[in-house]
Amino acid sequence: MGSRQVTDWQGKNVTVAGLGVSGIPAAKVLHGLGAKVTVVNDGDDARAREQAAELEALGVTVRLGDGATLPEGTELIVTAPGWKPDKPLFTAAAEAGVPVWGDVELAWRLRGLDGREAAPWLCVTGTNGKTTTTQMLASILEAAGLRTAAVGNIGVSLLDAVLGEEPYDVLAVELSSYQLHWAPSLRAHSATVLNLAPDHLDWHGSMEAYARDKGRIYEGNRVACVYNVADKATEDLVREADVEEGCRAIGFTLGAPGPSQLGVVDGILVDRAFVENRQKNAQELAEVSDVNPPAPHNIANALAAAALARAFGVPPQAVRDGLRAFTPDAHRIAHVADVDGVAYIDDSKATNTHAAEASLAAYESIVWIAGGLAKGATFDELVAKSAKRLRGAVLIGADRALIREALARHAPEVPVVDLDRTDTGAMLAAVQEARRLAGEGDTVLLAPACASMDMFVNYNQRGDAFAQAVRELGAGA
Ligand code: ADP
Repeated sequence: MGSRQVTDWQGKNVTVAGLGVSGIPAAKVLHGLGAKVTVVNDGDDARAREQAAELEALGVTVRLGDGATLPEGTELIVTAPGWKPDKPLFTAAAEAGVPVWGDVELAWRLRGLDGREAAPWLCVTGTNGKTTTTQMLASILEAAGLRTAAVGNIGVSLLDAVLGEEPYDVLAVELSSYQLHWAPSLRAHSATVLNLAPDHLDWHGSMEAYARDKGRIYEGNRVACVYNVADKATEDLVREADVEEGCRAIGFTLGAPGPSQLGVVDGILVDRAFVENRQKNAQELAEVSDVNPPAPHNIANALAAAALARAFGVPPQAVRDGLRAFTPDAHRIAHVADVDGVAYIDDSKATNTHAAEASLAAYESIVWIAGGLAKGATFDELVAKSAKRLRGAVLIGADRALIREALARHAPEVPVVDLDRTDTGAMLAAVQEARRLAGEGDTVLLAPACASMDMFVNYNQRGDAFAQAVRELGAGA
């Protein structure tokens, strides 16, 4: 039991780094366990003061405007996952031999605190597709009659799931690379890294460090490490991981599966991993048309979710039923409307080039609406790979010149409309321009490959603006 006992926490000096979505609940839980909690926070604005007052009323100490200094006597730091590892607070902690846990590590350590058997975790990470895959997985587990929830980086917080009243049989856990960085002792039942493309490198410091943090999800896996056959880097991470005896490496592929893989044969999702005699046998799980939407990258997500569920012992029919019951979150390849034989698709969530590439690969003839904040990305590879599908492009947002230049280099014949606008009305103009460029049977695809904050509050608002513009188009048609 060790660290699981309530008594271990009594009087323990814990510093919580960061007020916010993970910090406030962590501070409350730790305080409730009897720890002496100090919250430190960089900001000192009105909202922070309000939150601080609420915690102080409970007896928690809060230090606003100083997230750098290690409070005297700290025995443990519990940090918000977004805090960068090179912060002075962590340097001071390392010098003083103080361990640092993130929100996920804390939840992991507090499992089973009340003496109940702790639910195993099936964990999902990757540069893109995490939320979708985790939700698909939860849907499949539910279809199998298991008590479960999609938790972590989405939906229910991990702390609530671990400490709440609800008894779970198994949890579908989405983990970001930041959360994995701060979760040294996490041990999943089974886990997957869906794909690996450069992202958040300013935080991790390098691609190697980013990959290493993602790879932590495989450490200590008991049953299966699920990797993407098409993305060798994910397989390398499995090879490097130290797992429990008997844990298997399971691949997923959009092609025909080899032994110990899940894949696709003639429009059927098949399992050649969790079957008897996998050299000869395969088990049908579902049809490609059961996956919503049946875009290639999403079929890959479905196969990864299926692999984790099968590793947990879920029967084949539950995979099919769970996939059929699943509806994706808004702004992820959402079909908005058909107007004059042109389909309008909102993939506002494609906020980086890797996601946009997957999105563009799902359609044959596309008028592409792109642009926004590039976050240091380059667009040559994306444009070169997608050029043959592009019927036209409409560019918006602060960094649109980067995309325009890549188009000029790799797709000079594609007509480009460069909208020199970053106001909110620009989306209607973009959709009108796209309509002009599109012919019957084409797809107008909003897959910006960029963040939205130059023009919108977030990707949701950007997608809503697109959908609204398409509706106005339809009404005027
Ligand atoms: P995440 O939680 O990792 O951000 P989501 O499931 O929310 O992932 O999907 C975000 C976007 O990433 C989607 O809108 C789509 O453009 C793209 N995407 C989804 N799955 C994949 C995948 N397997 N490979 C590449 N891109 C993907």
